[in-house]
Amino acid sequence: MRPLARPLSGKTALVTGSTSGIGLAIAQALAREGANVVLNGFGEAPAIDTLKKAIAAQGVEVEYRPADIGQPAEVKSLVEAAAGCFGSVDILVNNAGIQHVAPVEDFAAAKWDAVIATNLSACFHAIAAALPAMKARGWGRILNIASAHGLVASANKAAYVAAKHGLVGLTKVVALETARTAVTCNAICPGWVLTPLVQRQIDARASEHGLSPEQAKAELLAEKQPSMEFVRPEEIGALAAFLCGPAANQIRGASYVIDGGWTAQ
Ligand code: NAD
Repeated sequence: MRPLARPLSGKTALVTGSTSGIGLAIAQALAREGANVVLNGFGEAPAIDTLKKAIAAQGVEVEYRPADIGQPAEVKSLVEAAAGCFGSVDILVNNAGIQHVAPVEDFAAAKWDAVIATNLSACFHAIAAALPAMKARGWGRILNIASAHGLVASANKAAYVAAKHGLVGLTKVVALETARTAVTCNAICPGWVLTPLVQRQIDARASEHGLSPEQAKAELLAEKQPSMEFVRPEEIGALAAFLCGPAANQIRGASYVIDGGWTAQ
């Protein structure tokens, strides 16, 4: 029997920062729905080859294009290079992100600039580069991976919170500007997910307060996430796949929390 067509068959997804964590899970989830994938992010060539093979096992095409998305010119080239891989970028997932933790008066200006460039400006540059072709082809999906910190704040994360609030705002503007087209733009706002980005914060907490890794994890969750469980990257992948699917045609400008109750408090 012929297999049923998958909802994203024939589409191409560019996922920034997809060599690790949430971006990788989103790339895998979109591939499962049939999308070809262009990976991006830092990493060693052998490790990236292994990821490419694992994703291609879903029966889709996979390429990797390097770019430091903190550099506007590289973002533009990345979108062009991704379109060159399989003919189009139908789905853009702005996922790559970095964190820096310090009180505002000690926050190094260079760190501020880097977090804003990577977590906010890169999303603007990628959207501006990808949107015209999406409109011309009459279909597109833009997903911005924001954070619970796009909706509420925490101390010592000035740049990250400012960037993620900005990204939620940018999502709404793009959704309004595309409202009469078949291009949609939405944000996903995860709570704590146990990825390298969060592991570094757990390690810092453990060494600062003399805690075991398990105690540091429990403290981190207890502060913010009522479920006391990490969100799993695959759960974010599944939400991303839903937002790219046909049932989400009229979901526009939304910021979906997936945060174990963090922002319900
Ligand atoms: P991660 O550190 O596991 O992965 C980050 C990815 O981005 C990697 O592939 C890395 O190579 C890439 N990257 C970083 N800087 C880059 C640059 N300048 N150019 C190209 N690629 C770059 O992090 P993660 O936890 O998977 O985070 C992914 C996104 O999810 C981020 O935007 C983060 O802010 C957001 N987020 C994470 C959590 C969490 O708890 N982990 C919660 C909310 C939101």
